[in-house]
Amino acid sequence: MNVVRERVSEGRPRIGMPRALMFYRYYPFLKALLEGFGCEVVASPPTNLRIMGMGTDLCVDDVCVAVKALFGHVRYLEGKVDYMLIPRLVSVEKKEYDTFTCPKLIAAPDMVRFSFPQLPPPLEFVVDVSKVPWWWGCLRLGRRLGVPLRGIARAYAAATREQRRFEALQREGLLPADALKRMENGNGLPSPGYASADRDVTVAVVGHPYLLGDSLVNKRLIHWLDSSGARVLASTMLSPRELEVEARKLPDLSWSYEWELLAASSHFLEKEGVDGLIYLTSFGCGPDSLVTEMVRREVPNPHKRAIMDLVLDEHSAESGVRTRAEAFVDLLRHRKTARPPGVLTR
Ligand code: SF4
Repeated sequence: MNVVRERVSEGRPRIGMPRALMFYRYYPFLKALLEGFGCEVVASPPTNLRIMGMGTDLCVDDVCVAVKALFGHVRYLEGKVDYMLIPRLVSVEKKEYDTFTCPKLIAAPDMVRFSFPQLPPPLEFVVDVSKVPWWWGCLRLGRRLGVPLRGIARAYAAATREQRRFEALQREGLLPADALKRMENGNGLPSPGYASADRDVTVAVVGHPYLLGDSLVNKRLIHWLDSSGARVLASTMLSPRELEVEARKLPDLSWSYEWELLAASSHFLEKEGVDGLIYLTSFGCGPDSLVTEMVRREVPNPHKRAIMDLVLDEHSAESGVRTRAEAFVDLLRHRKTARPPGVLTR
C-alpha cells in the first residue's frame, strides 16, 4: 500500500519523529533513511514542560515517564505532519536464547494508534532481529512508502553511514543529545564540560539513552554533575565490544537493553578512574526495577564504589535531582581525600 500518495497531494511527504524513546538511539539512521526515501523529516523539539504536561494528561498514570514524554511529542506533532514514524522494537540482537526489548517499546505504535484515533495509523519501523535481519524493517518501510528497491538500498547505505557517525561521536564521550547537536551543527560546537578529563571526580551514569538524553526528564542531572566539577561518563559511550567483554561475568538476561545496562554497570564498577555510579531509572519501569537490584547483588564491585539509584518521574523536581547530584559528588570527593579509618598522622 502506498500510504503517502493516498494522503499527500503536494510536496514531499512530511514524516514526524517524536523526540522520545528510541529517537535517542536511532534518529540519525531513521532520518537519513526517510530522506533517502524522498520524505521530509520533522522532529519534535526537545521535551519542555508543555510537552511533558500533554503527555502526562494523555497517558494512563502507571506507565513510565519516558512513554508519557512520547505521548506529549506525538500530540505536539499532531497536525504538523502527514505521518508519524514510531519504531516497533521487538528484538534487537540474535543470541542462543530469545531476546526482547521492553513491552512498551514493542507496543509503542499500538499505544499511539489507540490513544490518537484521529491520526492516521503511525508508520512502523519494525525490528525483530530474532526472526529477520535489521534491513528487513527498512525494506518494509520503503515498500510501504512506494520506494523502488534500488532507492531503498541507497537510502539504507546512507542511513548506516549516519548511524556510524552518531555512534562514533558517543564513543568519543558525547551524550546522545550532544552527539545529535554535533551532527546537525558540525564540529564547531565546543566540547561540553562534562567530557573534560581534567576533573578530580568521575561519575559514571548508567541509564537508557532516552533518560540520559532528555534533560527535562532527567532534570538536568548531567548539568548538575558538571557544575559540581565532576567528569561524566555514561553507558551510551560504551561500544558493543566493551559491553561484550562483561558477558562472561553476568547472568543471561532476555531484555537486551537492560542487559546492556547491567554490562555497563559492571564495566564502570571495575574501570580505572571511575569514583561512583548513578543508575538512572524511571518510576514504573518493570525491567529496570529488576536490573537495579541485579547491579547491587550480581555485579562485582571490587573497589566498593558508591552506587546511587535515581528514580525519575514526571513530578521529580529539578532541585531534588540537583541536591542529590551535588551530595553524591561531595561524597565521592570526601571518600577520595579522607584518611582510611585507623590511619594516624603525626
Ligand atoms: S524499559 Fe522502562 S523506561 Fe524504558 S520504555 Fe520500558 S518501562 Fe519505560
